[in-house]
Amino acid sequence: MQTARRVRADPVVRPQLPPTLNVQLPVKHHLLLWDIDGTLIASGGAGMRALQTGLRNVFGIDGSLADIDFGGRTDPWIMREVFRKFALPATPENFARFFDGYLAALPGELANPHARVLPGVREILKAATEHGGFAQGLLTGNMRRGAQLKLAHHGLWEQFAFGAFGDDSEHRNELGPHAVRRALERHSVNFAADDVWVIGDTPHDIACGKIIGARTLAVGTGGATLDHLRAHAPTAMMENLADTAQVLSVLAGRTR
Ligand SMILES: [Mg+2]
Repeated sequence: MQTARRVRADPVVRPQLPPTLNVQLPVKHHLLLWDIDGTLIASGGAGMRALQTGLRNVFGIDGSLADIDFGGRTDPWIMREVFRKFALPATPENFARFFDGYLAALPGELANPHARVLPGVREILKAATEHGGFAQGLLTGNMRRGAQLKLAHHGLWEQFAFGAFGDDSEHRNELGPHAVRRALERHSVNFAADDVWVIGDTPHDIACGKIIGARTLAVGTGGATLDHLRAHAPTAMMENLADTAQVLSVLAGRTR
């Protein structure tokens, strides 16, 4: 009772945060969720070749995967298609073995002369970091370990403290909530849908952004034409990310 009276009488007694927790971190106003392949980097076909090598080394099958549409899909979705094509059982054990074979082959395949960071990517990532108001994560169909290998190859992995990956779901449309939840855990900001941007190069990226109410920026660096992307009505669309000031202006604005 005595303590309760003191709390009412003396506001100084109110609980105080320890000084170390009172540091003001920059508040993040926007959440950028980046796709990897065709958006941040081009791997020069490394992913498909690593899958083919994995298929050969693990299952003894030397087959073409050229008829499987990889763009915007998740690694487990693609692997399930490969299993279907070659009549292999889609068991958890086979997914794990295939993925290990793929990962073992990936670094060697990434070391090809066509692998590159796409135009303006390093600049916009740096500009968004320096702006201070952006939280940046990944929203990719790559399994996390594959995403790490691909981005680390170009020194970009450290740019992203969190993300949603193919490990979270086989279906890209289910990845958005995982990314937003991890952004909340990382930055203690519950981003409104209007303040989230999903940036990618395929209609699947646009769809997975729309399903969480996010804004979508479609880029024409992954092979899809702008006409094709336009038909899926992204919030904004660009040939590439080369014009840093324009990209930053679009991402920092609320409308376009
Ligand atoms: Mg992509």
